Amino acid sequence: AVDADRAQAGEAAVTLDGRRIALGANIGGAAETAGALANGAEEIGLFRTEFMYMNRTESPDEEEQTRQYEAVFRAMEDRPVVLRTLDVGGDKELPYLNLPAEPNPFLGWRAIRLCLDRPDLFDTQLRAMLRAGAGGDLRILFPMVSTVSELRQAKAAVDRAAARLREEGRAVPERWETGVMIEIPSAALLADVLAAEADFFSIGTNDLTQYTLAVDRMNDRISALYDSYHPAVLRLIRHVVESAHAKGKRVGVCGEMAGDPTAVPLLVGLGVDELSMNAPAIPAVRRIVRGLRYAEAAALADEALRQDDGGQVRKLLAARA
Ligand code: PEP
Ligand code: MG
Repeated sequence: AVDADRAQAGEAAVTLDGRRIALGANIGGAAETAGALANGAEEIGLFRTEFMYMNRTESPDEEEQTRQYEAVFRAMEDRPVVLRTLDVGGDKELPYLNLPAEPNPFLGWRAIRLCLDRPDLFDTQLRAMLRAGAGGDLRILFPMVSTVSELRQAKAAVDRAAARLREEGRAVPERWETGVMIEIPSAALLADVLAAEADFFSIGTNDLTQYTLAVDRMNDRISALYDSYHPAVLRLIRHVVESAHAKGKRVGVCGEMAGDPTAVPLLVGLGVDELSMNAPAIPAVRRIVRGLRYAEAAALADEALRQDDGGQVRKLLAARA
């Protein structure tokens, strides 16, 4: 199967009845673009930029970040690159930010919330993204959005950073896209509102599962309850896809589920347009997509949505595999 997967690396991920699914790679640094391309990634679907900030004593400055992002754009040539803004807090700590200890870090001052309150951090990153993205297909993704006002403020910060760069005579992209991570139930439920103002969505099933089911994704004791196949999660995904498509916007999935072979027919059937995953998972996912009929996957997804629990969904998927 591995050889057959390699042979298919240049083929588009198109279902037997012609529905195309974009396959992207999740990366944590520019060095990972080589593996992304070797596995046939058509884009960088998620650059978790927080890794650049970890294991050091201060934040990377604008020049250092610009060089990192430029290296990604250069490696990916004219392919799309989704740069996610800093997603710290919760399980990802940065000691040098001296963030106060919180009783509920996963519900706390993190990700976009922190960035909107710390323009020093946010502007530096946005400037680096815009500088590096000049001439490229830049897509900026905001994590942990829970209200539409956060999206508006974040987009305004990007526009301000671009205006300042132009004043300074620096090149910025002629156009770029801004997207929202859908990983908090309020964002999923308000997807119709967000879709009016975002260019694309990326569903973070890791956190969406955690927050929908109120199950800490790091707590082994309750890991049996952590289930991305739970029909409540699937119904949110369906709602997000329908809301986005009604406004002509694309939806990707970039959580672990996107690279799980069992989940692929389900996610394709739910109507997602893109799957982004750890690069080694791409060849097998490509093979699965190419063997699917979208019409059948859609019927399977409808049936999954009617199940009582995640166990039944898994059984259904196993029976059809
Ligand atoms: C997610 O939450 O699904 C996601 C992709 O982001 P992270 O795993 O980095 O929180
Ligand atoms: Mg997340």
